[in-house]
Amino acid sequence: MTIVLKSYLSGQWVAGTGRKSLLHNPTTGAVVAETSTEGLDLGAALEFARSRGGAALRELSFAQRGELLTAMASALHEHRAELLALGALNGGNTRGDAKFDVDGATSTMAWYAKLGESLGDAGFLVDADTIQLARNPRYVGQHIRVPRHGVAVHINAFNFPAWGFGEKAAVALLAGVPVVCKPATSTALLTARMFEILVDAQVVPEGAISLLAGSAGDLLDHLGPQDALAFTGSSDTGAFIRSRDNVVRLGVRTNVEADSLNAAVLGPDVEVDTDTFDLFLREVGKDMSQKAGQKCTAIRRIFVPRGSLEVVRDALVEQAAGFAYGDPNVSGVQIGPVATAAQQRDVRAGVQTLAASGRLLLGDGGVGSPQGTGLEGGYFVTPTLLEVDGPDVGVVHDLEVFGPVQTIIPYDGTADQAVRAVARGRGGLVSTVYTDDKRFAMRAVLGLAPHHGRVCIGGSKVADHSPGPGTVMPQMVHGGPGRAGGGEELGGVRGLHFYMQRCGVQGLKPLVEKIAGL
Ligand code: NAP
Repeated sequence: MTIVLKSYLSGQWVAGTGRKSLLHNPTTGAVVAETSTEGLDLGAALEFARSRGGAALRELSFAQRGELLTAMASALHEHRAELLALGALNGGNTRGDAKFDVDGATSTMAWYAKLGESLGDAGFLVDADTIQLARNPRYVGQHIRVPRHGVAVHINAFNFPAWGFGEKAAVALLAGVPVVCKPATSTALLTARMFEILVDAQVVPEGAISLLAGSAGDLLDHLGPQDALAFTGSSDTGAFIRSRDNVVRLGVRTNVEADSLNAAVLGPDVEVDTDTFDLFLREVGKDMSQKAGQKCTAIRRIFVPRGSLEVVRDALVEQAAGFAYGDPNVSGVQIGPVATAAQQRDVRAGVQTLAASGRLLLGDGGVGSPQGTGLEGGYFVTPTLLEVDGPDVGVVHDLEVFGPVQTIIPYDGTADQAVRAVARGRGGLVSTVYTDDKRFAMRAVLGLAPHHGRVCIGGSKVADHSPGPGTVMPQMVHGGPGRAGGGEELGGVRGLHFYMQRCGVQGLKPLVEKIAGL
């Protein structure tokens, strides 16, 4: 039976009329749900969120908003098994992939709940110290950050229907700003179920969370000067949304999280059969297999010193050839299908483009022979490894192939050449340097830092502790310059700043201090 998704707007479940978008099971191609957002009054929905949800959230302290996040995380966790199953049904997730998404959402909410507790009874942030502004020490200035009186519109990508909602909502709600979440239509079933659970549990004030389950319609046309727009998706859509007339003219605060050609740089000191090499191999492999390579943070470019190319190539091919791919519900399968038929076509075309400038070492971006039965309509892609001759091959730095596809790029083993080549990706979310050589690490990390939101260092002493660059942690910033969107999310309390207005208050010292709660 096809499920009809509803949106949760202005405190009610509503269904659009008119043309329906279909949601599929990527493993079989079967239709599992449909939705429409046509005819929904999105202007009224945003106003409802601003006036009801915003007002209610601003009445609460950080600690109380934290309690709200704890209640949300608990309500969702109670339905974990059902949510994991939806990750498989509408996302093609293996159980591990679904856990990564769903547990990632609830653990980020729980982490921000703890942050709320530590921020205590205040409702806004005090920014640095009081500053004396005149000869008379009684005239001072103090910066504060207060919740903006708008709504946070969150537009998410298809690959993380749970985490995408959870990580953005946790930060906005803790800041005191209501959320309107628009998941990608193709995988919205999981997000919609999360909303049903949260609404039924009655754990958030009315208007604090809303869901638009389908295409955006005229949503962005209703954004105003107090609103915040946080987008995750492709660079093209990001460029489109941030150039909207009202977004530009009204100064709607906008954050874009987009494409990234994340790199792994293997240092020249790393020999095979060492802890550092094993870590490199494990993390590269994880980023090919996890979520079928559909992670914005996944390693796409693997830089290998020419001197060790042959042996490293062999190890990477052997590892990738060992991945079982197919029906994510079959025990032992490590790589499920990609999320949509369009995605499958794009990956295949992308592999062909890369292969034209290099060579295929394993797979070809085609369907191959996935494990399981009844998969003829599924969106499968063989794990695919390519190699190019060197860092000057331009296409590997331009084209993001969003699937289980990676390219080996030999380099001369110097940190400077690796940095120059990685930077040709024009800005990324995260890259990793695998080395135990301090000088190489310092040169590479400081060279890569201006081009990234995060740089990881993989070495023997952290081999047992690294979660891998693909895991976005709430304590650390997520985002990156240039083609990665130029945005920044999470990063502990830093994430709250996007939803708050920094205001410098000037006046008589005791009064300013009283207002700031000092
Ligand atoms: P996409 O096609 O750009 O879609 C992203 C979101 O934008 C979807 O919710 C989509 O809604 C919405 N959208 C599309 N056109 C719109 C418009 N005109 N107005 C308002 N919203 C619009 O990207 P995707 O295919 O879902 O995601 C894949 C890309 O996202 C990859 O390039 C990946 O690197 C990137 N990504 C980045 C991050 C990060 O944190 N940096 C994380 C995950 C993914 P519909 O689904 O309804 O069209």
